[in-house]
Amino acid sequence: MSGHAVPYKRETKFHTNVLYLVSDFAQSVKQQADIVKIIGEYVRLRKAGAQNYTGLCPFHKEKTPSFSVHITRQIFYCFGCHEHGDVFTFIQKIENISFPEAVRFVAQKCGIPLPKREFSSEEEAKEGRLRAKLLELHELACAWFEEQLRSPEGALAREYLSGRGLRPEDIKTFRLGYAPDNFHALRERLQSVADTETLRLSGLFSFKEQEDGSPGPLYSRFRKRVTFPIANESGRIIAFTARALEAGEKAGPKYLNSPETPLYSKSNVLFNLDKARQAIRELNFAVLVEGQMDCISAYLAGVRNVIATSGTAFTESQVRLLGRYTKQVIVNFDPDTAGANAAEKSIALLTEEDFNVRVVTLEGGLDPDRYIREHGAQAYIAALRTAKRHQDYLVERARQLFPPNTANAKIEALNFLLPHIRRVPSRIARDEFAADAAQKLGIDSALVREELKQAAAKRRDSLSNTMPQLSEAERMMLRALASSQTDAVFQAAAAGFDANEAHFSGLTTSHILAQLRHRDSQSPMDAVPDPRDRSLLAQALMDELTPLDKEHIAAALETLRRLYFERRQRELRAAISEAERRGDTTSVLQLTAEKISVDRALRE
Ligand SMILES: [Zn+2]
Repeated sequence: MSGHAVPYKRETKFHTNVLYLVSDFAQSVKQQADIVKIIGEYVRLRKAGAQNYTGLCPFHKEKTPSFSVHITRQIFYCFGCHEHGDVFTFIQKIENISFPEAVRFVAQKCGIPLPKREFSSEEEAKEGRLRAKLLELHELACAWFEEQLRSPEGALAREYLSGRGLRPEDIKTFRLGYAPDNFHALRERLQSVADTETLRLSGLFSFKEQEDGSPGPLYSRFRKRVTFPIANESGRIIAFTARALEAGEKAGPKYLNSPETPLYSKSNVLFNLDKARQAIRELNFAVLVEGQMDCISAYLAGVRNVIATSGTAFTESQVRLLGRYTKQVIVNFDPDTAGANAAEKSIALLTEEDFNVRVVTLEGGLDPDRYIREHGAQAYIAALRTAKRHQDYLVERARQLFPPNTANAKIEALNFLLPHIRRVPSRIARDEFAADAAQKLGIDSALVREELKQAAAKRRDSLSNTMPQLSEAERMMLRALASSQTDAVFQAAAAGFDANEAHFSGLTTSHILAQLRHRDSQSPMDAVPDPRDRSLLAQALMDELTPLDKEHIAAALETLRRLYFERRQRELRAAISEAERRGDTTSVLQLTAEKISVDRALRE
């Protein structure tokens, strides 16, 4: 043990120094950043009191706001899902990035120049280096695929792309390429740039697991395919989708995607968002299509605000990502069954997040790409203008699926619509949707309302709150001990705490109070390490509508004292009967004496 003491200490010191630099910078960023402004870019916040703003929580689904931001404390807390923290926690969670990245992100937003040292630990520095390397590999691979497309071997791919109406300048805009029918060429191109492990992590290669579980030799994942690079929001390439040039079992799936990698998570990316985001912001709506080719065609037809899910249905994180740019979407999926199902799922997610959704169905059962090739750009843009409100689209679809000729079909159509109706966050819009559906299906609207009411009641029952409820006195003590150590309320609470520590034993918050009381100069949230405790503290700190002064503290201390004696009284009563049962007279006498003094204290 002692033999390890010296090197261990040295290492700790090293880390502490680096950490100090980062936390020092983070502190200064935090002081300059306005949490309300930064969260306000993601959540529509409304002023709710002198110190608070509220809005719909971005971390859980809700229809009435339980997400709260505190101005002076610069923290947020959700009374629904109990997410909480400071501006960095918020950015980390919503952008899905690490702490140092969040510090940099906020600093950039506030125009604060970054210090040279950015990483808080060796591990994070390593992660940063890996990501940078993977970005470099993707850039090189993309350039190489583009080169291959221009080579003699790329003839078939060029033919395919021109057959889809793409001109050389379009191919350049989207950086389309060709992955040749070769297992090793890409690896040979990249092996001087990165080691085998990094190449493996890039997802550009496949390998077979060997008998001992280790990865076998790497070979190209994409072969004989047209490559579509997938970029992140800032336009850096992070993955590929590759379309087979041949059909049949040997060629594999029609579309092959990069696997999940440290750079790429399918559900967090929207194809073409890097090119479309400016237009989406300006026009305040997005056009959502399914496939990359649909997206490219629409973009080239002049629809600059088009993005693709590059899969089937929308995911929740994609909805949130899009929500940072607009809350209005025109959904234009394939009219086939899979497309219609994907459209329904996407509509469900979007309406739940309070998006205004319209739906386009192109005539002749065409997907956007074919429609544009057959009818031209102007016709497509005109078709987008005919987009229906999602309510009307869904009612029409219910009527198609279950032609309401019989009572049974009407009920099936209603069952198809009810979940969609329930998801609409606004009550007025929900009622309107229900009335409209009832009328079009020929159902009594009272029946629809009754069905909705029952579903709502079931939902309320399933929501139970798992956080302990704090007493008013505990909340006051938390608030007082969380204030600055030079404050009169802090000093009153600290004195009361020190003098009567026993009174606090047995409270849910006793150790939190102790941590706050004995903290160094750091901020109160930082003094409480446990996430559940922090959540409790944040909950208490949000409630600052009620003022706090020395009289309140005195009253809170008095209440806690009384509660303590009541607890003690119950304990003693139980202990006395236990001792009596054992026939332990000495203990009975001792305990009874204590109980008498407790009873007296309570009467006072
Ligand atoms: Zn929440």
